[in-house]
Amino acid sequence: MTLPTTSTITTIAVIGAGTMGIGIAQVAATAGLTVLLFDINQDVLTRSLDTMRQRLRKRVEQGKAESKTIETLITNIHVAQHLSELSSAQLVIEAVAEKLAIKQSIFGELEAICHKSTIFASNTSSLSITAIGCQLKHPERLAGLHFFNPAPVMKLVEVIRGLETSPEVIEQLKALTLSWGKVPVICRSTPGFIVNRVARPFYAETLRALEEQVGSPATLDSVLRDAGGFAMGPLQLTDLIGHDVNYAVTESVFQAFGYDPRFQTSLMQLELVQAGHFGRKSKQGFYHYDDNKPQPTASFAAKVHLNHPQTVKVRGDWQIFPEFAQLLSENGISLEGLAQQPNQSPTLLVNDVIIMLTNGELASFHAQRSGQAVVLFDLSANYLSASAITLTCATQNNTQQNQHAIAFFQSLGKNVIVLPDYPALLTMRTVAMLCNEALDVVNKGVATVQDTDNAMRFGVNYPKGPLTWGAQLGWPRMLSVLEQLAQFYGDSRYRPNPLLRQLAAGYQSLSFKELL
Ligand code: NAD
Repeated sequence: MTLPTTSTITTIAVIGAGTMGIGIAQVAATAGLTVLLFDINQDVLTRSLDTMRQRLRKRVEQGKAESKTIETLITNIHVAQHLSELSSAQLVIEAVAEKLAIKQSIFGELEAICHKSTIFASNTSSLSITAIGCQLKHPERLAGLHFFNPAPVMKLVEVIRGLETSPEVIEQLKALTLSWGKVPVICRSTPGFIVNRVARPFYAETLRALEEQVGSPATLDSVLRDAGGFAMGPLQLTDLIGHDVNYAVTESVFQAFGYDPRFQTSLMQLELVQAGHFGRKSKQGFYHYDDNKPQPTASFAAKVHLNHPQTVKVRGDWQIFPEFAQLLSENGISLEGLAQQPNQSPTLLVNDVIIMLTNGELASFHAQRSGQAVVLFDLSANYLSASAITLTCATQNNTQQNQHAIAFFQSLGKNVIVLPDYPALLTMRTVAMLCNEALDVVNKGVATVQDTDNAMRFGVNYPKGPLTWGAQLGWPRMLSVLEQLAQFYGDSRYRPNPLLRQLAAGYQSLSFKELL
């Protein structure tokens, strides 16, 4: 069987003209392909097409797109009244409701309609590609092609290999989506594929912190967003996604992995779902979306009026944060004692207060061991550009000592968030858990190192791929953070991945070639 290639695929069919189908149709039509669009509900199809046309023509009015380009795109999309009209397509992408039986039956019908070389793809976000294809005479022609919402904007496409999918089909889909300007990543059909699996801790760790009363939703979001460097806080993001949808994804991954505590669902989120507080779409989630009420804001420390030192003593491994030295020098602070101590926590001494990067232990443990005042700071993707920093103070410190640490970071132009003494704070524990999950994906051959990182950068816009981030911070540090959390909670949710143990011991290394 000769498969169609990027140059020979001229007509594609899209089945389902809902949120995803219409977006995928637009992507393919923009690339100059003829698109046959079919939906069981002709009203939905007409409405979706009208909305798309209006949206695109508005872009022309706003001077954001060329009229000719948009009109060509629109004329590239043709409506099909029946599945039998899709026989000329060299590729069929299915984007109907997330029901296994419906998807199986559509592809079953298509086998009798399409040419034997036609490639079949499903946009499923949670069903097994192997299961969708299991009743086909030729399951090798079926793959997953998982676009992200909104499809015309989001770069990532997960190209998913079922047990029977032929490698050539995967290669053709990769080449085709690349030619559409997308970032394709290849993965094996496993629950949540890459993004919906690796991203679980991003929501789960903040939901846990909220349950443990570490801070308000606005403060915890600010920790990850303003201090940590993520584009959105986890709680505002789940409000946007919809708690019904986000909870259902977590629940399906939790169930599919045999109720592994790594994917434990949140009772607090379940309660939101039960109350119908889905987030933006129901005008109430962790935040309310009623214009008349002011939004809650993060709690930042009040301005402390203390003179900050011109020189600070440093120790530990500062090479992992080159931007921190720049931050200090831009604020006229010089450093003393720059001796690098690999694998030791980056530490500053300000007015005899030890200010140290969290390593997963409580600040109070450090203070007890050292007999000194200890303040821990949380991880950031970029300490220079972050507008905030997160701190926690040992319970043994006196107020003045804490004020010195707060004043120091305020003098660097940062809003300071002070959390209770919480092991690994919030961005560090989240990144360690993202890293652990990404390593599980690599360890089990679900995807390569570069595809895993690219999936998280382009599918959910993380500031760094988790594996790049982990390698930069050092595997022994990542391992130690997780071990501390596992010990603190006595919870197997934080158990380190076997590959992390090998990396930390230096027995293995990751290859980062071809990273985008
Ligand atoms: P949707 O409900 O917006 O659209 C589904 C469309 O499929 C509807 O218009 C419906 O009329 C049509 N349909 C149902 N049964 C059909 C049939 N037998 N034949 C033809 N058309 C039929 O759903 P959606 O959000 O676009 O999701 C579609 C698929 O994409 C699902 O598998 C979903 O898991 C996946 N997905 C969704 C998102 C997202 O953010 N919405 C993201 C990635 C993947």
